[in-house]
This record gives sequence, C-alpha cells and structure tokens, in this order.
Amino acid sequence: MNVYDSSRIADMLKNEGYEETLKQADADIVLFNTCHIREKAAEKLFSDLGRAHLIELERLEQTGKKTIIGVVGCVVQAEDNQIIKRAPFVDFALGPLMYHTIPEVLKKISLEKEHESYVNTDFPAVSKFDFLPENKAQGACSYLAIQEGCDNFCTYCVVPYTRGAEYSRPVAEVLKEARRLVDTGTLEINLLGQNVNSYHGEDENGKERNLAYLLNRVAEIDGLKRIRYTTSYPADMTDDLIECHKNIDILMPYLHLPIQSGSDKILKAMNRRHNSSDYLRIVEKLKKANPNIGMSSDFIVGFPGETDADFQATLDVVNEVKYIQAFSFKYSRRPGTPAAVMDNQVEEKVKKQRLDILQNLLFSYQDKFNQSCIGKVMPVLFDQKGRHKGQLIGRTPYMQNLHIKTDSANINKIINVEVTDATTNSLGGKEI
Ligand code: SAH
Ligand code: SF4
Repeated sequence: MNVYDSSRIADMLKNEGYEETLKQADADIVLFNTCHIREKAAEKLFSDLGRAHLIELERLEQTGKKTIIGVVGCVVQAEDNQIIKRAPFVDFALGPLMYHTIPEVLKKISLEKEHESYVNTDFPAVSKFDFLPENKAQGACSYLAIQEGCDNFCTYCVVPYTRGAEYSRPVAEVLKEARRLVDTGTLEINLLGQNVNSYHGEDENGKERNLAYLLNRVAEIDGLKRIRYTTSYPADMTDDLIECHKNIDILMPYLHLPIQSGSDKILKAMNRRHNSSDYLRIVEKLKKANPNIGMSSDFIVGFPGETDADFQATLDVVNEVKYIQAFSFKYSRRPGTPAAVMDNQVEEKVKKQRLDILQNLLFSYQDKFNQSCIGKVMPVLFDQKGRHKGQLIGRTPYMQNLHIKTDSANINKIINVEVTDATTNSLGGKEI
C-alpha cells in the first residue's frame, strides 16, 4: 500500500513541476512515507530522519540551498506532534489520509521564509482519492488501491487506528484507474486493500458490489494480462470470490491469505473472526476451484499467552497447507492496542526461538515448491533489469522471482520460460 501511496505522491508532485531524484543532496524536498505496523519499522524512521537532517545541513552550507523534509503515512498518524518534538527540523507531517494536501502544504511552507512545522492527522470526510491527479502505470506491474482502512480491530494491530474506518472506492473510479494503468503500459494489476476482500464499493447505479463483481469487471479490460488482489481476510472469502479462481483465467493462481496463528485460543484472543478449521476449509475450497493455486500467509509468533502447544498448532497448519511463500513476524507490542497491555506477554527469547523454527519450516516448503518447478514452462512477466549484463528479472504466476539471460527488448513482456534451476528465494530459466 505504501508503494502505491508513494507512486500517487510522485504523480502529484510531477504535476506541480517537480522531478524525482534519488540523491538527497540534489533534492529540494525529501519525503518519507512511513509504516507503523511493527516497532522496528517505526523506529527506522527516526534514524533515517537524523541522516537526512545531516545532509540537509551540509547542502545548506555548501550550496546555500534549503531543503524541505516531510513525513507522511502511518507513523505520523500514530505519533502526531511527537514527530516534530523528536525531529524539530521536519517541515511537515501528514497522516496517510491527508497526503493529497501536499501541494497545498508546500505553498504554506515556502523555502524562502521561516515557518512553523505543519502537522495534519485528520480523517477527512471526503476521500483523498477525489483529489489525486490522474495516475500512470508504475511499470508493467502496477498497484491499485481499491479499499483502505479496517474495521476488524485485531487486538495486536494498529491499522484501524492509523488508516481509519474501512472505505471502498466506487467501481467506476477503480475501472477508470485500471484502464489508465493498462493504457500507459501495465500488464499486471494488483488490487490493494488492508482488507481487500471486504470490498463493497458502489457501482454506476448506486448498487453495492463485492470484490468478485469487481474482479470480473476488471478482467474485461482489453490488454490486461494478469490480476492479483492483496491482502485478504479469511472470514471475508465468499464463495463467489473463490469461484473467481476457477472462472477468471487472468486471475493468478496465488493467494495471500493470512491466518496469523494455528491455535484457536490465540485466534480468539487476537479477535480474528475465523478459527483454524474455517481457514482450512477455505483453502480446500480454493484448491477445488483451482487445483494449481499456491497459498501464502502471514504469521505472528509469541502473541501474549501463546504456549508451546499453541505454537505447535501453527506448525500443524503450515504442514497441512504447505505454503509456497509466507511472511512471519515476532509479535510486536503496539501502543494503544489491546494486546499491548495483556499481562501474559511472551519472552523475547522464546519469540525468537519460535520464529526460527517457523521460518525454517516455511522455507523448507518454499524450497520444495521452487525445486518442483524445475523443468516446467511458465509465463513470466519481466519488469526489471538484473545485476548482470543481459539479465532480466521477472515474476512467475506464483510471485516467484525468476531471472534469465535474454535480449533487453524483452523487458515489460510476458515470455514463456523453462525453469532450469531453483533456490529458496528465486528461480533461473531459459527462453523457449
Ligand atoms: N489485513 C491483513 C493484514 C494486514 S497487516 C490481515 O488481516 O490478515 C500485515 C501483517 O502485519 C499482518 O498480517 C500481521 O501478520 C503483521 N502484524 C500486524 N500487527 C503486528 C504486530 N503488532 N506484531 C507483529 N506483526 C504484526
Ligand atoms: Fe490489522 Fe488485518 Fe486485523 Fe485489520 S484485519 S486489524 S488490517 S490484521
């Protein structure tokens, strides 16, 4: 979501006449887009800001040019004025629902005169999407936010507080943005939302529509070759959405469906609306709809009260589903969330041990799946140049990174590739 937000911010600043540079010393404005989901992500901001301030001072001394430093995103929403207290050189800070106001804020904060730091963490009544300029493709693969915020309030999670209440963009707006992405070079669209499958946007006649409807409409766009959607909440996997995995051939056979824990006791304490057997039933239905589907998940280890037996239940789910990819994290105590004040917190050492065990198991399945791809032919979308000359990197339908030696003219194309080698994290192949 942050990659998508950053690309919309870049579109907006380009409209204002700015150009992108990756070298800070050349930049009049430096922007940090931030994540608050785990403590580590939030802390990183302050060390990055410190570095940016040093370059700001050096630039001023050497060239006499001032720099505007801005922070946007979820850390701002959570920390509010604390950002300015900890880093007073920050010129402005905007929450994730306010970044459309950047051009306005820049008018207030001119480089020429002294100004107060500006902070805005409102949850506006009118959607920011109504104010953003026309989007452009982010490349052959583009993200498209269709839903934002969350009403689920899992007890460990900051999202409902930082991104606010759930909001779905209207169908027509999504289709317009999707068409523009395809017209400007996108072959693959990843529909995004913190809870994407609870999408309930209005159609052209004011009727509420779900994600299954939207996927079918997006699939009709001429020139679009691939669709994905991320991240889904298990309890919102409706039967018609599962059917899309059978009926929409450009919907990729890969689904990220976070279970978090395999223990029903922990899932309840997490306030998830599913237990482990509900989850396994959904996976079964998905595999029936498309026997080739590959599953992915998020896991949290060391949630308050997690015992060895609870952790074993998580490993049992992994052994049952055999994920082809996954993300796993140690539980991180987030201020303001109910789990942060639960009194049965798990020791850091235990969290680390469990994470190691879980990751080894997850990697073994990922590796097994990657090895099983050797000898298969897959359509791969190449959208990046590799480190070596003549090398391109692309994505298989299963989101695996695959590199080949090929003509650089093949960039931004889908090519059939025979997989020739595999590691846990990537594949190699040759054009056929
Ligand atoms: N809406 C999605 C997840 C979005 S947040 C869902 O419900 O599944 C992305 C991931 O960050 C989560 O799936 C979770 O695994 C992780 N996460 C969120 N809060 C966390 C915390 N306090 N500690 C550790 N991981 C966390
Ligand atoms: Fe966070 Fe996902 Fe739970 Fe919403 S459903 S509170 S985004 S983990």
